[in-house]
Amino acid sequence: KPVVAVVGRPNVGKSSLVNRIIGRREAVVEDVPGVTRDRVAYDSEWQSQEFTLVDTGGWETGASGLAGSVAGQAEYAARAADAILFVVDATVGATDADEAVARVLHRSGKPVVLAANKVDGELQEPDALALWNLGIGEPFPISALHGRGTGDMLDAVTAVLPETPEGEGEDEDAPRRIALVGRPNVGKSSLLNRIAREDRVVVDTKAGTTRDAVDEVVELGGRPWTFIDTAGIRRRFRALQGADYYATVRTSQALDRAEVAVVLMDVSEPLAEQDIRVVEQVVEAGRALVLAFNKWDTLDDERRYYLEKEIDRQLSRVSWAPRVNISASTGRHVERLVPALETSLAGWDTRISTGRLNGWLKELVAATPPPVRGGKQPKILFATQADARPPQFVLFTTGFLEDNYRRFIERRLREDFGFHGSPIKLTMRIRE
Ligand code: GDP
Repeated sequence: KPVVAVVGRPNVGKSSLVNRIIGRREAVVEDVPGVTRDRVAYDSEWQSQEFTLVDTGGWETGASGLAGSVAGQAEYAARAADAILFVVDATVGATDADEAVARVLHRSGKPVVLAANKVDGELQEPDALALWNLGIGEPFPISALHGRGTGDMLDAVTAVLPETPEGEGEDEDAPRRIALVGRPNVGKSSLLNRIAREDRVVVDTKAGTTRDAVDEVVELGGRPWTFIDTAGIRRRFRALQGADYYATVRTSQALDRAEVAVVLMDVSEPLAEQDIRVVEQVVEAGRALVLAFNKWDTLDDERRYYLEKEIDRQLSRVSWAPRVNISASTGRHVERLVPALETSLAGWDTRISTGRLNGWLKELVAATPPPVRGGKQPKILFATQADARPPQFVLFTTGFLEDNYRRFIERRLREDFGFHGSPIKLTMRIRE
């Protein structure tokens, strides 16, 4: 379950807010800083998204060293949590301590939602707006005491939560996982043999034989990589009825477990619908992508001319993916797969801090504002990267953004932050 830490100075209303979110009267609230509580983590839920809510107010008593200061507390929280709910007292405004916290959170790169508390009525709304100054993004005006505005704030919190908490089930040193995919006969098995530098005998498998997927660790460019379901790659399905369907299922199972996919295509034949379908499967699965054009040794000038046209026409949707032209038979440029894989994975892994992202977005929008729609100029209030692998972004706006404009943002994100080789997802949250 992802962890949301509630951070803020004493007395800004953290505990009231925790109470409000968990819907219980359990956490003691007193107008005294540092009230003792024995429990600080609560199971919470909003719109069926479950998360663990951590009340850092409980750390105040007796804490020394790092956790003794609010900024230190924020630092701890940021390290431990998947997202931060930063509570500021809007009636007081941003104090030095708040600014120190903002800087710490900014540096942490974790998604932060800013709650401007004690906005009990419309009269206090301008107080909340003043908190844009903190550079955290949009302040959500709330009243922890009365529940005002907390729904919108929780929407924002759940929007920035990763699907699985960071670090869970991940082994940083494990070889990266590659799915080698492509329609039958493009040369997957030949490429695998070339890479493994041994000529394995490919045995035709009879219908009805089942074998479990076997992954193999293969050294490439001086480091190990896991090739997924190498048994599936080496098997021949050509003679089988329904081989297409089976290959599609097998591909999607391999993609489920992969981080990056090499889509192999055969340049000796026109690009087929099935090639494009495999590419789309990779994008939909949200995996990093490398396009490999095999059998380059067969290419003559005429075919080359048509190939370039086919690529422009049929693969424009993935113009961001690195391409390598190889020959599994001769070994030509096979080693170039390594930098391509690394580029794609780097894009796939990238996380941009909320501060950096919003600084960038502000400049972008100032230079090229979103087009007016229905007489209104939609404003982009705030953006956050909700997840990586693949990178996912959420834009909070005051109105609908045209597809063209969203594509423009996506393109610029790729150019300026280098998401080469990775699909990215951009979603929009409209707040009236
Ligand atoms: P798979 O079904 O994708 O695993 O494809 P295979 O590896 O079985 O290859 C299909 C056919 O293409 C075989 O006859 C290979 O010898 C041939 N082939 C594979 N790679 C190349 C290449 O780079 N150049 C040429 N000329 N033929 C290739």
